[in-house]
Amino acid sequence: MKITEIRTTPIFLPYKIRYHWAQGTIDGAELILVEVHTDEGITGYGESVGSPSAGAIEAHLAKAAGYCIGHDPFENSGLMHLVYQALFQAMGTCSSPRYAGQVLAGLEMALWDVMGKATGKPAHQLLGGARRNHVQYFGFPQGDTAEELAAGAKALADDGCEVIYVKVGRGDALDLEIVAKVREAIGNRRLRLDPNEHWDPLTAGRMIPQVAAYGIEFIEQPTSSESINALLQVKGSSAVAIAADQSAFTPSDVFEVCRRRAADMIVLGLHETGGLTRFCKAAHIAEAAGINICLHGLYESGITTCASIQAAAAIANLDDGNQYMNHFLVEDIVAAPDLALNNGQLPVFTGPGLGFELDEDAVARAAEAHRKQFSA
Ligand SMILES: [Mg+2]
Repeated sequence: MKITEIRTTPIFLPYKIRYHWAQGTIDGAELILVEVHTDEGITGYGESVGSPSAGAIEAHLAKAAGYCIGHDPFENSGLMHLVYQALFQAMGTCSSPRYAGQVLAGLEMALWDVMGKATGKPAHQLLGGARRNHVQYFGFPQGDTAEELAAGAKALADDGCEVIYVKVGRGDALDLEIVAKVREAIGNRRLRLDPNEHWDPLTAGRMIPQVAAYGIEFIEQPTSSESINALLQVKGSSAVAIAADQSAFTPSDVFEVCRRRAADMIVLGLHETGGLTRFCKAAHIAEAAGINICLHGLYESGITTCASIQAAAAIANLDDGNQYMNHFLVEDIVAAPDLALNNGQLPVFTGPGLGFELDEDAVARAAEAHRKQFSA
């Protein structure tokens, strides 16, 4: 089997309500749909995050396609190495593993989709087989005010989410109000906080003892992603467990966080690692250090939800409170399976490839939404 064409389509999937986090607000997911076509009529689908510029990501993927066409999709790992070397090392752009991961994730996913469809097997079977039959997610309430977040958190807890996760890092007073009101709303459910790098060690030292009184399970990436030292400094005196998110993208990042014992949990997704293969590689490194992986959510459609389940099914050390983003979407581009949570979980899908069917009409609407949203 040979790759004959790689097509990309920028799409925009609006959110039901505005997403608030420490870095600002977001109104929808900007993505690049990646299609890998083959000479056997099999087409694989994946998606890359479209930021900071859909045009730039498409240009990189067009260049990557030049190295992949004519090759067998089952050369996935070698092709990704070839493309990374050609685009990000040999051309003087030096080492950009994080950006490369975000650019190439959609292509790598699409290759797995082809490989699964060609063999008639779900990707997790080709990755070593499922270690579980479902993936458990945390409840992620949305809203601007503490009251809105608490109401959303209560609804999610009532729907069966055992773990509730909220964004903080929005100022001491608002953060403390959010934590108090959400804790009151969810009773004894597990509660996680994510300041998204907005606390320096001094702020973390001031805030963590105050939020600890509310029984926090862990605090995710309190400090700058660029400094594992800062994470280590905070963890050293923290009464609450610490998770690394933006500090760990690549298998090497994961190794370094583990080696230095800078986190109690590592939050990781396909858009950071650059797809399923390197996600599993990174997870295996963490497993060897006795640390679990929590699936990260980013701007994504059901394609990423399904692809993440395939990879997450195959690792031993998956957390039971993973990030779920599908409920934000007004409309998904995945027609099947149903991606609504049931008791806070989704089954490990067993259809071939990444396990979904694309809704072509919804893709056309999302492409039109992108043209409207981003045309000058
Ligand atoms: Mg995070």
